[in-house]
Amino acid sequence: MSETSPRLRAELEGIPTYKPGRPAASGGPVAYKLSSNENPYPPLPGVLETVTAAAGAFNRYPDMACTELMSELAERFAVPVSHVATGTGSVGVAQQLIQSTSGPGDEVIYAWRSFEAYPIITQISGATSVKVPLTPGDVHDLDAMADAITDRTRLIFVCNPNNPTGTVVRRAELERFLDRVPGDVLVVLDEAYKEFVRDLEVPDGVTLYRDRPNVCVLRTFSKAYGLAGLRIGFAIAHEPVAAALRKTAVPFGVSQLAQDAAVASLRAEDALLGRVGSLVSERTRVVDGLRGQGWTVPETQANFVWLRLGERTVDFAAVCERAGVVVRPFPGEGVRVTVGETEANDVFLKAAEMFRKEL
Ligand SMILES: *Cc1c(COP(=O)(O)O)cnc(C)c1O
Repeated sequence: MSETSPRLRAELEGIPTYKPGRPAASGGPVAYKLSSNENPYPPLPGVLETVTAAAGAFNRYPDMACTELMSELAERFAVPVSHVATGTGSVGVAQQLIQSTSGPGDEVIYAWRSFEAYPIITQISGATSVKVPLTPGDVHDLDAMADAITDRTRLIFVCNPNNPTGTVVRRAELERFLDRVPGDVLVVLDEAYKEFVRDLEVPDGVTLYRDRPNVCVLRTFSKAYGLAGLRIGFAIAHEPVAAALRKTAVPFGVSQLAQDAAVASLRAEDALLGRVGSLVSERTRVVDGLRGQGWTVPETQANFVWLRLGERTVDFAAVCERAGVVVRPFPGEGVRVTVGETEANDVFLKAAEMFRKEL
C-alpha cells in the first residue's frame, strides 16, 4: 500500500465547516427548532400532492433546463427567460457565481458577520475573502465595502436582509453603493428573506438589476416558500452571468420534485404569503416582547432576530435549550433565533425573560 495520499488542493485546508442549525431533540425536553430560519409550517397539501406525484417518476432524470419553472419565473418577474438560472438552493447558485468569477488571487468582498456560506464557498474557489465589519448597529457598512474594492475584486455579496442580524440596507444607500462599483465587478444581492421585508424603503433587487449588467439577484424557495429540504433557488442576472450559471450547473442538479414543488408553490403563492404574513406578525410580537424585557434587538426584516450576547452567547443558548427551543449561537458574538410557530416563540420569550432575570 502506498504511503502517500491523493493530493488535494491546498485551498481546502482550514475551510470552516458549515454548521447546520441543530435539530430539536426527540424525546428530550427540546421541542422546537429555531436554529435554521426554516419555515415552521408543513408543506401545503397541494404542493405535497404535486411532489408525491412527481416521486412516482424518480427513476427518470429531471428536466435539465427546468423549462416550466424558468418560464414561470421569467413571467412573474417580467424578465427574459435567458436572465433566469436555477440551482441547488441559492447557496448552490452563489457557489456557481464565485466559480464563474473568482479564483486564486481574486478577492470577494462581503460584510461580516453575514451568511456563513460566503467564507466557505470563497475559500473553496481559492479566492481571498475581504470581510468588512458591520457598523456598530449591525448593518452593512456600504461605504467601507466600496472603499475595500481593489482591481482584484471580482464579486461582492450584499445580504439584504442580513443573516444573522436581520438588518437591511435601503434604496438610496444601495444605489449610491452600486454607482461606486466598477462595471466589471459582480454584485450579488442575496435576498433569501425578501418576502419577509415590510420596510418599503428596502429595494427589490429585481428593479435594481434591470439597468445594471453587473448586478445579480439571488432568491430561494427555502424560506418563505417552505421548500428547504428540496434544495432549489435561483438567480436573475443579465446574459453573460446567467449563461455562466448554466455552464457551471451540476447537470440535473435540481430534482424534478424540487422543480414541480417550486412551480406549485408559485401557483399557491397567496396561501404561502399568508403564512409569511403570520410569521411577520409573530416577528413583531417577539421583538416587542424582547424589548419589553429590556433587550436591545436590532430592527429585523427577516424571519429571525439577533441578540448580541457576546461572552454570554453559549450560556443563553443552553438556557433556551433547557426551556425547549434550539437556537443558533455564534459563540462570542450573539444568538440568532428563528421566528417560528406561536408556541415556540412563547417558549423562547419565556426563556429569554428567565435569562434576563438571572443577570
Ligand atoms: C437561507 C439562506 C439562503 C438560502 O439557502 P438555500 O441554499 O437556498 O437553501 C441564502 N442566503 C442566505 C443569506 C440565507 O440565509
